[in-house]
Amino acid sequence: MKINQAELVISAVSQKQYPKESIPEIALAGRSNVGKSSFINKLIQRKALARTSSKPGKTQTLNFYKMNESFLFVDVPGYGYAKVSKKEKEKWGKMMEEYFSTREQLQMVMLIVDIRHDPSKDDVMMYDFLKHFDLPVTVVATKLDKIKKGQKAKQLKRVMEVLGMEEQDQLIPFSAETGEGKEVAWGAIKRYLS
Ligand code: GDP
Repeated sequence: MKINQAELVISAVSQKQYPKESIPEIALAGRSNVGKSSFINKLIQRKALARTSSKPGKTQTLNFYKMNESFLFVDVPGYGYAKVSKKEKEKWGKMMEEYFSTREQLQMVMLIVDIRHDPSKDDVMMYDFLKHFDLPVTVVATKLDKIKKGQKAKQLKRVMEVLGMEEQDQLIPFSAETGEGKEVAWGAIKRYLS
């Protein structure tokens, strides 16, 4: 898909700030530094739509980006920062629950993981959290360029096993460096945009 228009509609911390319009939404989740911003920027061919490497201590917000006036990408704040205080973690959890449990426009969540490693405890928790709300999840295993070709199948299998992925959920190997997996990722998104 060619994105001609991409704009930040709002950075929201609670439901009353969510955009009022009801166009479909695709959310993007992943632990901090996994490559979430690089993923979205590669998809829409921008250098820096999504802020890269949001540091701990910064305000954690749900960022709603409108694409071509037709759908929204919702950038979910990164999780799994050990340095974040318990209070901040609780705030994050509440914000996530409010969004995932109430947002009717939300069609699908893309969960970004690192193909080089087994998914972390936080990744597993996030996947379970999303499944708890019965949301379709597409798992994107990024940084594919960082492993040898021969390791790909084994690592993908590990991601599937460790997350305990449901049969209907798709797993996409991806690299923001080479663009591999980009068309497959768009295919997955388009299926939920109608
Ligand atoms: P975010 O915090 O999840 O948004 O992560 P970023 O997109 O900022 O990426 C974190 C770091 O990983 C940056 O240094 C990126 O350049 C790097 N990175 C992200 N995706 C890839 C990838 O597919 N391949 C390689 N080699 N590096 C990547």
